[in-house]
Amino acid sequence: MFAESDAARRAGRRVVFVPTMGFLHEGHLALMHEGKKRGDFLVVSIFVNPTQFGPGEDLEKYPRNLAGDLALCESAGAEAVYTPRADSMYGAGYQTYVSLSDLPNHLCGLSRPGHFRGVATVVTKLFHTVAPHVAVFGQKDFQQLAVIRRMVKDLDFFIEIVGHPTVREADGLAKSSRNSYLSPDDREKAVVLHKALSGARERVAAGERNAAAIVSWARDLILETPGTEIDYVSLCDPDSLEDLAEIGEAAVMLLAVKLGTTRLIDNMVLLP
Ligand code: AMP
Repeated sequence: MFAESDAARRAGRRVVFVPTMGFLHEGHLALMHEGKKRGDFLVVSIFVNPTQFGPGEDLEKYPRNLAGDLALCESAGAEAVYTPRADSMYGAGYQTYVSLSDLPNHLCGLSRPGHFRGVATVVTKLFHTVAPHVAVFGQKDFQQLAVIRRMVKDLDFFIEIVGHPTVREADGLAKSSRNSYLSPDDREKAVVLHKALSGARERVAAGERNAAAIVSWARDLILETPGTEIDYVSLCDPDSLEDLAEIGEAAVMLLAVKLGTTRLIDNMVLLP
Protein backbone atom coordinates (compact mmCIF):
# COMPACT_ATOMS: atom_id res chain seq x y z
CA MET A 1 0.00 0.00 0.00
CA PHE A 2 2.78 2.42 0.90
CA ALA A 3 4.60 1.73 -2.37
CA GLU A 4 1.43 2.43 -4.39
CA SER A 5 0.77 5.62 -2.51
CA ASP A 6 4.38 6.73 -2.69
CA ALA A 7 4.40 6.21 -6.46
CA ALA A 8 1.21 8.25 -6.79
CA ARG A 9 2.73 11.07 -4.73
CA ARG A 10 5.92 11.03 -6.80
CA ALA A 11 3.79 11.25 -9.94
CA GLY A 12 2.35 14.48 -8.54
CA ARG A 13 -1.03 13.02 -7.63
CA ARG A 14 -3.03 14.07 -4.59
CA VAL A 15 -3.73 11.05 -2.41
CA VAL A 16 -7.11 11.07 -0.66
CA PHE A 17 -8.11 8.46 1.89
CA VAL A 18 -11.44 7.13 3.20
CA PRO A 19 -11.02 4.67 6.10
CA THR A 20 -13.94 2.29 6.73
CA MET A 21 -14.88 -0.95 8.44
CA GLY A 22 -16.66 -2.17 5.29
CA PHE A 23 -20.25 -3.32 4.67
CA LEU A 24 -20.36 -0.12 2.67
CA HIS A 25 -23.48 1.99 2.19
CA GLU A 26 -24.37 5.37 0.72
CA GLY A 27 -22.74 7.19 3.64
CA HIS A 28 -19.39 5.67 2.76
CA LEU A 29 -20.03 6.34 -0.95
CA ALA A 30 -20.68 10.01 -0.22
CA LEU A 31 -17.27 10.15 1.53
CA MET A 32 -15.66 8.60 -1.55
CA HIS A 33 -17.35 11.10 -3.87
CA GLU A 34 -16.21 13.93 -1.62
CA GLY A 35 -12.73 12.41 -1.75
CA LYS A 36 -12.71 12.35 -5.54
CA LYS A 37 -13.33 16.10 -5.50
CA ARG A 38 -10.40 16.69 -3.19
CA GLY A 39 -7.80 14.41 -4.70
CA ASP A 40 -7.11 12.23 -7.71
CA PHE A 41 -5.78 9.03 -6.15
CA LEU A 42 -8.56 7.67 -3.93
CA VAL A 43 -7.68 4.98 -1.41
CA VAL A 44 -10.37 3.23 0.66
CA SER A 45 -9.46 0.95 3.54
CA ILE A 46 -11.68 -1.83 4.80
CA PHE A 47 -10.63 -3.11 8.20
CA VAL A 48 -12.76 -4.18 11.14
CA ASN A 49 -10.34 -2.99 13.78
CA PRO A 50 -10.32 -5.33 16.80
CA THR A 51 -8.69 -2.81 19.17
CA GLN A 52 -11.67 -0.45 19.04
CA PHE A 53 -14.15 -3.12 20.17
CA GLY A 54 -14.58 -3.86 23.86
CA PRO A 55 -15.26 -7.27 25.42
CA GLY A 56 -18.83 -8.35 24.68
CA GLU A 57 -19.20 -5.90 21.77
CA ASP A 58 -20.02 -6.92 18.20
CA LEU A 59 -16.53 -7.59 16.74
CA GLU A 60 -17.33 -11.17 15.70
CA LYS A 61 -20.76 -10.46 14.28
CA TYR A 62 -19.88 -7.13 12.63
CA PRO A 63 -21.37 -7.41 9.10
CA ARG A 64 -18.93 -8.13 6.28
CA ASN A 65 -19.28 -8.23 2.48
CA LEU A 66 -15.89 -7.81 0.84
CA ALA A 67 -16.98 -8.68 -2.73
CA GLY A 68 -19.85 -6.18 -2.64
CA ASP A 69 -17.61 -3.56 -1.01
CA LEU A 70 -14.93 -3.90 -3.70
CA ALA A 71 -17.56 -3.43 -6.42
CA LEU A 72 -18.82 -0.26 -4.71
CA CYS A 73 -15.29 1.11 -4.30
CA GLU A 74 -14.63 0.48 -7.98
CA SER A 75 -17.89 2.17 -8.99
CA ALA A 76 -16.90 5.20 -6.92
CA GLY A 77 -13.56 5.42 -8.69
CA ALA A 78 -11.24 4.18 -5.94
CA GLU A 79 -7.73 3.50 -7.24
CA ALA A 80 -6.82 1.21 -4.36
CA VAL A 81 -8.59 -0.66 -1.59
CA TYR A 82 -6.42 -1.49 1.41
CA THR A 83 -7.66 -4.55 3.33
CA PRO A 84 -5.03 -5.46 5.91
CA ARG A 85 -5.40 -8.53 8.08
CA ALA A 86 -5.77 -8.17 11.84
CA ASP A 87 -2.76 -10.39 12.50
CA SER A 88 -0.56 -8.25 10.29
CA MET A 89 -1.82 -5.01 11.87
CA TYR A 90 -1.32 -6.34 15.39
CA GLY A 91 1.34 -9.04 15.23
CA ALA A 92 2.93 -10.92 18.11
CA GLY A 93 4.49 -8.51 20.59
CA TYR A 94 2.39 -5.54 19.52
CA GLN A 95 2.41 -2.91 22.29
CA THR A 96 2.14 0.64 20.93
CA TYR A 97 -1.07 2.67 21.27
CA VAL A 98 -2.17 6.26 20.74
CA SER A 99 -4.50 7.73 23.34
CA LEU A 100 -5.94 11.17 24.00
CA SER A 101 -6.24 12.57 27.49
CA ASP A 102 -9.56 14.46 27.44
CA LEU A 103 -11.83 13.94 24.43
CA PRO A 104 -12.49 10.26 25.21
CA ASN A 105 -13.77 11.18 28.70
CA HIS A 106 -17.19 12.01 27.27
CA LEU A 107 -20.11 10.36 25.48
CA CYS A 108 -19.16 7.11 23.70
CA GLY A 109 -15.77 7.07 25.42
CA LEU A 110 -17.52 6.52 28.76
CA SER A 111 -19.66 3.59 27.66
CA ARG A 112 -16.92 2.15 25.43
CA PRO A 113 -13.68 2.35 27.44
CA GLY A 114 -10.65 1.99 25.18
CA HIS A 115 -12.68 2.58 22.02
CA PHE A 116 -11.03 5.85 21.01
CA ARG A 117 -7.58 4.50 21.89
CA GLY A 118 -8.27 1.77 19.33
CA VAL A 119 -9.54 4.31 16.81
CA ALA A 120 -6.60 6.71 17.25
CA THR A 121 -4.15 3.81 17.02
CA VAL A 122 -5.58 2.27 13.88
CA VAL A 123 -6.01 5.62 12.14
CA THR A 124 -2.38 6.45 12.94
CA LYS A 125 -1.27 3.15 11.43
CA LEU A 126 -3.48 3.61 8.38
CA PHE A 127 -2.24 7.19 7.91
CA HIS A 128 1.37 6.01 7.95
CA THR A 129 0.75 3.29 5.40
CA VAL A 130 -1.61 5.15 3.07
CA ALA A 131 0.30 8.43 3.46
CA PRO A 132 -2.58 10.57 2.17
CA HIS A 133 -2.67 14.32 1.58
CA VAL A 134 -6.35 14.40 2.60
CA ALA A 135 -8.61 12.07 4.61
CA VAL A 136 -12.43 12.17 4.69
CA PHE A 137 -14.47 11.19 7.76
CA GLY A 138 -18.21 11.28 8.44
CA GLN A 139 -19.83 13.68 10.90
CA LYS A 140 -22.05 10.73 11.83
CA ASP A 141 -19.23 9.73 14.19
CA PHE A 142 -18.87 13.22 15.63
CA GLN A 143 -16.68 12.34 18.59
CA GLN A 144 -14.44 10.22 16.39
CA LEU A 145 -13.98 13.16 14.01
CA ALA A 146 -13.10 15.42 16.96
CA VAL A 147 -10.56 12.83 18.19
CA ILE A 148 -8.95 12.55 14.74
CA ARG A 149 -8.75 16.33 14.26
CA ARG A 150 -7.15 16.72 17.68
CA MET A 151 -4.69 13.88 17.11
CA VAL A 152 -3.66 15.20 13.68
CA LYS A 153 -2.99 18.59 15.20
CA ASP A 154 -1.21 17.29 18.30
CA LEU A 155 0.98 14.72 16.55
CA ASP A 156 1.88 16.81 13.48
CA PHE A 157 0.30 14.68 10.80
CA PHE A 158 0.44 16.76 7.62
CA ILE A 159 -2.96 15.53 6.50
CA GLU A 160 -6.01 17.65 5.75
CA ILE A 161 -9.06 16.29 7.58
CA VAL A 162 -12.44 16.75 5.91
CA GLY A 163 -15.72 16.13 7.75
CA HIS A 164 -18.68 15.11 5.59
CA PRO A 165 -22.34 15.55 6.61
CA THR A 166 -24.34 12.51 7.69
CA VAL A 167 -26.19 10.66 4.95
CA ARG A 168 -29.67 9.58 6.06
CA GLU A 169 -32.47 7.24 5.02
CA ALA A 170 -35.68 8.84 3.71
CA ASP A 171 -37.19 8.87 7.23
CA GLY A 172 -34.10 10.49 8.74
CA LEU A 173 -32.33 7.47 10.23
CA ALA A 174 -28.57 7.89 9.79
CA LYS A 175 -27.19 5.22 7.49
CA SER A 176 -25.02 2.76 9.34
CA SER A 177 -23.64 -0.72 8.78
CA ARG A 178 -25.15 -1.59 12.17
CA ASN A 179 -28.68 -0.79 10.94
CA SER A 180 -28.56 -4.28 9.39
CA TYR A 181 -28.89 -5.69 12.94
CA LEU A 182 -32.33 -4.08 13.44
CA SER A 183 -35.51 -6.16 13.30
CA PRO A 184 -38.21 -4.60 11.06
CA ASP A 185 -40.01 -3.44 14.20
CA ASP A 186 -36.89 -1.83 15.69
CA ARG A 187 -36.01 -0.31 12.31
CA GLU A 188 -39.32 1.58 12.44
CA LYS A 189 -38.70 2.66 16.01
CA ALA A 190 -35.19 3.87 15.19
CA VAL A 191 -36.56 6.98 13.52
CA VAL A 192 -37.05 8.43 17.01
CA LEU A 193 -33.33 9.32 17.18
CA HIS A 194 -33.67 11.71 14.27
CA LYS A 195 -36.99 13.02 15.59
CA ALA A 196 -35.33 13.91 18.88
CA LEU A 197 -32.45 15.69 17.16
CA SER A 198 -34.54 17.65 14.70
CA GLY A 199 -37.07 18.54 17.42
CA ALA A 200 -34.20 19.85 19.54
CA ARG A 201 -32.95 21.92 16.64
CA GLU A 202 -36.42 23.41 16.18
CA ARG A 203 -36.50 24.33 19.86
CA VAL A 204 -33.18 26.12 19.57
CA ALA A 205 -34.32 27.88 16.40
CA ALA A 206 -37.40 29.03 18.33
CA GLY A 207 -35.15 30.60 20.97
CA GLU A 208 -34.79 27.96 23.70
CA ARG A 209 -31.31 28.25 25.26
CA ASN A 210 -31.59 26.03 28.33
CA ALA A 211 -29.71 22.82 27.60
CA ALA A 212 -31.32 20.77 30.41
CA ALA A 213 -34.81 21.61 29.11
CA ILE A 214 -33.92 20.46 25.59
CA VAL A 215 -32.17 17.30 26.78
CA SER A 216 -35.08 16.37 29.01
CA TRP A 217 -37.57 16.95 26.19
CA ALA A 218 -35.49 14.71 23.88
CA ARG A 219 -35.10 11.97 26.53
CA ASP A 220 -38.86 11.90 27.12
CA LEU A 221 -39.56 11.66 23.41
CA ILE A 222 -37.14 8.75 22.99
CA LEU A 223 -38.46 6.88 26.03
CA GLU A 224 -42.03 7.15 24.69
CA THR A 225 -40.93 4.56 22.12
CA PRO A 226 -41.08 1.17 23.87
CA GLY A 227 -37.88 -0.86 23.84
CA THR A 228 -35.50 2.10 23.74
CA GLU A 229 -32.70 2.33 26.28
CA ILE A 230 -30.80 5.62 26.44
CA ASP A 231 -27.03 5.46 26.81
CA TYR A 232 -26.67 9.26 26.63
CA VAL A 233 -28.38 12.37 25.30
CA SER A 234 -26.00 15.34 25.59
CA LEU A 235 -25.80 18.90 24.47
CA CYS A 236 -22.15 19.78 24.05
CA ASP A 237 -19.61 22.27 22.89
CA PRO A 238 -18.64 20.97 19.40
CA ASP A 239 -14.88 21.30 20.00
CA SER A 240 -14.33 20.20 23.61
CA LEU A 241 -17.46 17.98 23.86
CA GLU A 242 -17.99 19.43 27.35
CA ASP A 243 -21.64 19.51 28.42
CA LEU A 244 -23.32 22.88 28.02
CA ALA A 245 -25.70 24.41 30.55
CA GLU A 246 -26.75 27.26 28.30
CA ILE A 247 -26.61 27.32 24.52
CA GLY A 248 -24.35 30.19 23.58
CA GLU A 249 -22.23 30.31 20.46
CA ALA A 250 -22.28 26.77 19.11
CA ALA A 251 -23.89 23.54 20.21
CA VAL A 252 -24.22 19.96 19.06
CA MET A 253 -26.63 17.37 20.40
CA LEU A 254 -25.32 13.83 20.50
CA LEU A 255 -27.11 10.65 21.46
CA ALA A 256 -26.61 6.94 21.80
CA VAL A 257 -29.68 4.73 22.14
CA LYS A 258 -30.06 0.98 22.32
CA LEU A 259 -32.88 -0.76 20.51
CA GLY A 260 -32.83 -4.42 21.51
CA THR A 261 -29.15 -5.35 21.33
CA THR A 262 -28.31 -2.72 18.72
CA ARG A 263 -26.65 0.49 19.88
CA LEU A 264 -27.24 3.43 17.51
CA ILE A 265 -25.54 6.84 17.63
CA ASP A 266 -26.48 10.08 15.92
CA ASN A 267 -25.92 13.81 16.34
CA MET A 268 -26.96 17.17 14.98
CA VAL A 269 -25.42 20.60 15.14
CA LEU A 270 -28.10 22.77 16.74
CA LEU A 271 -26.24 26.06 16.42
CA PRO A 272 -23.40 26.18 13.90
P1 AMP B 1 -17.47 2.86 9.56
O1 AMP B 1 -17.32 1.92 8.41
O2 AMP B 1 -18.80 2.80 10.23
O3 AMP B 1 -16.30 2.79 10.52
O4 AMP B 1 -17.42 4.32 8.95
C1 AMP B 1 -16.38 4.72 8.09
C2 AMP B 1 -16.51 6.19 7.82
O5 AMP B 1 -17.78 6.45 7.22
C3 AMP B 1 -16.46 7.05 9.09
O6 AMP B 1 -15.76 8.25 8.82
C4 AMP B 1 -17.93 7.32 9.35
O7 AMP B 1 -18.15 8.50 10.07
C5 AMP B 1 -18.47 7.43 7.95
N1 AMP B 1 -19.92 7.20 7.92
C6 AMP B 1 -20.60 6.14 8.42
N2 AMP B 1 -21.92 6.30 8.26
C7 AMP B 1 -22.09 7.50 7.64
C8 AMP B 1 -23.23 8.26 7.21
N3 AMP B 1 -24.48 7.80 7.38
N4 AMP B 1 -23.02 9.45 6.63
C9 AMP B 1 -21.75 9.93 6.46
N5 AMP B 1 -20.64 9.26 6.84
C10 AMP B 1 -20.81 8.08 7.43
